[in-house]
Amino acid sequence: MTVSTLTPPSVQCPECGVHSIVEYKPTVYHCLKCDFEKDLSIPPEPKGTGLGAAITGLAGFGLGLLILL
Ligand SMILES: [Zn+2]
Repeated sequence: MTVSTLTPPSVQCPECGVHSIVEYKPTVYHCLKCDFEKDLSIPPEPKGTGLGAAITGLAGFGLGLLILL
């Protein structure tokens, strides 16, 4: 088997600059050198925060209605 020059080099870690990034999960990249981790599948907002914000918003809305009535 010949080593192709077209083979892309391993991903360089943005933290320590070492090419030691491995694909930990299909969407998670992990650096063996400095434990840097990058999850490409992270949603814009964590579940808990979103739910909390929704409840807070709903409570605020209900309070506003009570004041109006
Ligand atoms: Zn690193």
